[in-house]
This record gives sequence, structure tokens and C-alpha cells, in this order.
Amino acid sequence: MPPIFARAAKSAAWPVLALSCLAFGNASAQGTYPNHPISLVVPFAAGGPTDVVARSLGASMSKTLGQSIVVENRTGAGGTLASTHVARAAPDGYTFLIHHNGMATAPALYRKLPFNPLTDFAYVGQVADVPMTLLGRKDLPPGDMPAFIKYARENGDKVNLANAGLGAVSQLCGMLLQESLGAQFTTVPYAGTAPALTALLGGQVDVLCDQTTQTIPHIKADRVKLYGVTTLDRIQALPDTPTLQESGLKGFEVKVWHGVYAPKGTPPEAIAKVNAALRAALKDPVFTQKMTELGAEIVPESKQTPEGLQTWLQTEVDKWGGIIRKAGVYAD
Ligand code: ASP
Repeated sequence: MPPIFARAAKSAAWPVLALSCLAFGNASAQGTYPNHPISLVVPFAAGGPTDVVARSLGASMSKTLGQSIVVENRTGAGGTLASTHVARAAPDGYTFLIHHNGMATAPALYRKLPFNPLTDFAYVGQVADVPMTLLGRKDLPPGDMPAFIKYARENGDKVNLANAGLGAVSQLCGMLLQESLGAQFTTVPYAGTAPALTALLGGQVDVLCDQTTQTIPHIKADRVKLYGVTTLDRIQALPDTPTLQESGLKGFEVKVWHGVYAPKGTPPEAIAKVNAALRAALKDPVFTQKMTELGAEIVPESKQTPEGLQTWLQTEVDKWGGIIRKAGVYAD
């Protein structure tokens, strides 16, 4: 951007920032923050894994904050539209984002990313880690993972793999899966796991790798074929299910982590209050029990802080940047 435009853009942003600080200043002086509902932006479709975590978390946090948290689903471009929206929102303590690994993979996946995850946000804390499961449609021929490996290697060009867009963890898992199998599937992107799973249940696609927070109810109801879990060790919620590594994909591991973000410049008092509500939710038996049932694991206290999230994000940006650039996957 030529310097003159950079200056104009910067000065245009000042009134918004000043006004929002004033508004927050008044509210906090009266000790009333938050004095109206808070928006929690989810980058994927309603009913999906990120949405499930967001809605349960929001319900618990709102008990501490004394205000409702309204979940807003802003889908598209693998979650980057939602992140862009929040990066540009007024930093007044009323807009937050919940996102997963996609926040760290976006800089390498998107050549024209309109935000920088490391500089355009304020950090609240991490929430939970979630394993993924590799699922097939109910009538896909292979009955288990060793049979799927053989089938995929022989019929790769006929396998349709659903995901939630470039930058979604389902895409990441699918990318690693194809690489480990040495197979090339046809990828079918959706606006989130909820519609992708509907397509799998309806038999329109063959395979989906996605989070237990949405897949466990369908696995328990026997509506899909379960080929394995993506963690290095078996998980408590599905103790009889082998890991993909056990079934022959050496070292295969994908784990999803979630963080809560705010626009950069959000008053520290708001971040502190929302972080306290987050930490209370991570001890709330209603929330923790739901997460355990869905295979998720609450992160340790050191990660529940703004610093814990920021440090982790930097590590993940560095890690995935290398892997993705090497794989040569990107969007223009
Ligand atoms: N689990 C999805 C993903 O693949 C997103 C979602 O719908 O929550 O990133």
C-alpha cells in the first residue's frame, strides 16, 4: 500500500477506536462491562464442531459475565472471512472470535490474507483440544482401517473427501491422510462440518475426517463407518477404536485446539473479565462434562491465559507454515 493510503487508512481508523474506548471507559467506570450482549463469531456453519464448543462455552461464560453471548456464524474461505471480520471489528469488548488451528495455518494457505493472526488480535485464552475421527459413509466397502488403506490406494481417484474449506482442520487432516496413503482423492468443500457430515450421511461423499465433538453422536448411533482416531493414543470417549497410526499410518497425528480472540486494541479490562469467565467455564461441570462426552480435553491452566494462547499460536504458525509451504498448497 503506498504510504499516503496507509496514512489515510490509519487516520480513518482512529475515530472508531477512540469512540469504542470512550464507550468502554464509561461502562467500566460504572463497573457495568459488559452491559449488553457479546458477540462470539464462529467461522463455520451452525451445528458443526466449532459451533458446538462455542455455544456450550458461551452459555457457561454468560453465567459469569451476567450477559448473553450471542453466537454468530460467519462462514467462508476456510474461516478467514470470520477472522477478517473480527480483526476489523470495533475493539470495544463486544466482539470475540473462537477459532481452531485454522488461525495458525491461514498465513501459509492464503497468499492474500487480509489479517495477521500474530499482530491483529488481542488474545483471551485457549479452550479445549479435540481429537478427530476418520469416517466413511455407512455403505463404503472397507470395513476397517487396514481395508480402507488398501481400498484408498487402489481406488483413490474414485474417493470423494468432504471438508470444511481450505484452512479447515478437516482439510488439514485430509491433506495429511492423502500424503500418508500416497493417494489422491477428489476434495469436496463445504461451509462447515455440519453440511459436510450431512453429505456423508446422505451418501453424497465417501469420507470425512472431523472432530469428535460432532462425530461421536453419529458414531454411537451407527450412522457412519468409523475407521480410526487421529491422535497418537486411543481416546477415552472411544476406547475400542484404533488410532490411524496403530492401523498402519506411522506417526499420523492431528489434534484440534481452540482459542478465543478479540480485535487488537480491546481494553485490557474487557480481556481480563472475559478471560476470567473463560477460566470459570473451563471448571464448570456442565461444560466440562459435555466436552468429555464429546471426546474433548480442557487445556491446562497455563494455556487458558492470553499469553498461553499467543505463545501457542506463534509455535503453530511456525510449525504449519513449514509443512504447508513444503506441500505447496495455497489459495490465491
Ligand atoms: N470442523 C470443521 C473444520 O474442519 C469446522 C467446523 O464446522 O467446525 O475445520
